[in-house]
Formats: sequence, C-alpha cells, structure tokens
Amino acid sequence: MKPLLRWLLDTVLPPTCLACETPVEKEGQFCVPCFKAANFVSAPVCRCCGVPLPFAAASGTLLKCEPCTQSAPAFTQARAALRYDEMAKRMILALKYADHTEVVNGLAELMRRPGEPLLQAANILVPVPLHPARLRARRYNQAALLAIQLARLTGRPLGLDALLRHRETAPLEGLDRAARSAELQGAIAVRTDAQVRDKRVLLIDDVMTSGATANECARVLLEAGARRVDVLTAARVADPRFDGLALA
Ligand SMILES: [Zn+2]
Ligand SMILES: [Zn+2]
Repeated sequence: MKPLLRWLLDTVLPPTCLACETPVEKEGQFCVPCFKAANFVSAPVCRCCGVPLPFAAASGTLLKCEPCTQSAPAFTQARAALRYDEMAKRMILALKYADHTEVVNGLAELMRRPGEPLLQAANILVPVPLHPARLRARRYNQAALLAIQLARLTGRPLGLDALLRHRETAPLEGLDRAARSAELQGAIAVRTDAQVRDKRVLLIDDVMTSGATANECARVLLEAGARRVDVLTAARVADPRFDGLALA
C-alpha cells in the first residue's frame, strides 16, 4: 500500500486488535479478551523441536519429545510464539490474503520473546520459500513478511531468496513421516551455497505443523555448508499427531 493511502486509512480507522475487530491503542496489539484467550507456547517444551509437552517437566531437566528422541531433526532448535488454534489461524490467514501489515508487525513482535537467543545468534534470517505460482496467487510469502520485520526489529541480516522452491508440494497433513519426506524430496534448494556457507541460519515461517518442511529446508542448508540451522515460527501445532485444524 502507498504510504499516503496507509496514512489516510490509519488516520480514519483506529488500529484494531491482532485477532478481532476491536479498536486498540496501538497497532499490533491484542485487545484484552484476545490477549487472555491467546494460547502462547509455554514451558515445558521439547528442547529440540519446541513442541509443547503435555507433562510437567522436572525442574532443571531438559526434555525431548518422542519423535526427536527417535530421530533428531536436521535443525537444532525450533521455537514458536503461539499454539496453532482458531485464533492463530485467523491471524495467519490475515497475513496470507490481505494487506495487514499490523498483523505482520504484531506477530513478529510476539516471536521475539521465544526467539530471542536464536535471533541473537543468527548470522542470517531465511524465510521458508513459497513456489512462484503460489506466490503470484497469494501476493505474499507470509514467511518473508515475518522475516523482513524480524530483520528490521533485530538488525540481523536477511537472506530473502537464500532458499527457493522448485516445485509445489501437495499438502503434508495426514501423511506419515516417510511419505512427507518423499513429497518434499527435491522441492527446496539453496540458491547459492556461498550465501549460507559457515553461517548460523534462522529459518522463519508462519506455522510449523509436522516440522517436515522446516526439516527439509534445514537439510539442504546444512548440505550447502550452513554451520547450524534453527527455526522460528509465529505458531505451531501443539501435537502434530492430533492435528485437527485444517491448514488453509
Ligand atoms: Zn481482539
Ligand atoms: Zn521434539
């Protein structure tokens, strides 16, 4: 949107809550009821993939979820701000299909707290890529919007086009682990190895479901010589085995 038009709209319309139409004081905030209803990811989480664990952690113990214990993902750590629920879904849909910069800014702000150590240590922020055809249809790569805003907020370098998607992949929901990695095989590539070589990469995405896409991105980044790959998302499905919410 043109700055002038944006300014005019902002002047006429007060900023609204990240998740509903209630007017709020500042752009990128929740209204009070939505803040109370927001499902923030809280401890205990898997120290590797960041999935909220259903049982209370013994104090001081670092826990790993069952899938990470059985086979560690290619990324080192993944963290998220919110559990993926109906509210998170509404916010993320707003990112995908409309010009809602306040949602981008609000979500990026929410991602800073769980992502702080990963953001601090990252040499480059890289969004999970969208296939060009899908990008045209949607107009935005929501992962890129979040990465741009996080780079602005933290001053970390941005690698917007470090990864590219060669082909579209079918929805991964409902597929088992082997079928997911077969579907992703060859779909994602590193544009130039030099951009990521010896770097600590922080992958940015809107939602993490099974982690299969993030895992494939991490795998190709490490193959290209990245030193370490972590993942930061706005939301994550709390238990991918019980993924009842369709990802639109
Ligand atoms: Zn609200
Ligand atoms: Zn895990």
